[in-house]
This record gives sequence, C-alpha cells and structure tokens, in this order.
Amino acid sequence: MNTVSTSFTPLYTFEAVDLEDAKEQLKEVMPNSPLLSNKTVPKVQCPYCFSTEVQLVPKKFSLLTGIMTNGFNRVCVRCQRKF
Ligand SMILES: [Zn+2]
Repeated sequence: MNTVSTSFTPLYTFEAVDLEDAKEQLKEVMPNSPLLSNKTVPKVQCPYCFSTEVQLVPKKFSLLTGIMTNGFNRVCVRCQRKF
C-alpha cells in the first residue's frame, strides 16, 4: 500500500486513499494548513513602480478616525509611496 505521507510530514493522521483524498480531508481539518497553499502567495508589488521591495510599516495614527490602528501600510522601498 502506498502511503501518502512520503512527501511531507503529516501533522494529522487520517485515512486517505490517495493524495487528493488526503488533501480534501486536510482541508476540512486544517483549512489553513501550509501544506495546502501550493499556490505561491502573491508577491506584494508596488502598484506605481512595480518594485517588489516593499516594507510593512505600522499605521501609527489615522486622521480619519482619530484612533490608533493596528494595521500596516505597505511602503515601496524604491519610490517610497504608500499603498
Ligand atoms: Zn514603488
């Protein structure tokens, strides 16, 4: 019997007939499993100069709301623009 666990270390053991079945089950048990994110995370890219050198900087103060926010702004390293 082939084992589906040869290509990765299973964090969760389950009965699966093949790798696809295993993935389906894994999706239910661990929807956020990194094993399922085969698609590469889309690169953050500056919309202005298309540089991929982007820094995350914490939002310090929002003038719109007047309250502290815990979000992040992305700032392009090359053109220094926020987006
Ligand atoms: Zn830029």
